[in-house]
Amino acid sequence: MTYIVNENCINCKYTDCVEVCPVDCFYEGENMLVIHPDECIDCGVCEPECPPEAILPDSEPEATKWLDLNRDMSEIWPNIGQKIDEMPNAKAAESETGKFDKYFTKAPGKGN
Ligand code: SF4
Ligand code: SF4
Repeated sequence: MTYIVNENCINCKYTDCVEVCPVDCFYEGENMLVIHPDECIDCGVCEPECPPEAILPDSEPEATKWLDLNRDMSEIWPNIGQKIDEMPNAKAAESETGKFDKYFTKAPGKGN
């Protein structure tokens, strides 16, 4: 069991999720975060901290398709363990749909 991040995360970076994670298992892309499935201890404390509801347990049917993305990107993106400023359009992006097709990039974030 692990938690995963889905496309709702794109263009957010509120990173309240990062701040509460006890094992620092978030990894940062240019415009979204992912969770390393082998490092997540399944505690669930990050889920209610995420305004766009991008964090799901992998027991949810809709989480399955995001699991590989979380695994693959967490191998190439840098770790992020501390809160950073949200993205400029984070509030507007919260309710936007179809963000993966429009904005996903494998480019890494800065990490910290
Ligand atoms: S709060 Fe949710 S949407 Fe925002 S960066 Fe964290 S996981 Fe992504
Ligand atoms: S479920 Fe717990 S360990 Fe997993 S990413 Fe969220 S806060 Fe971190």
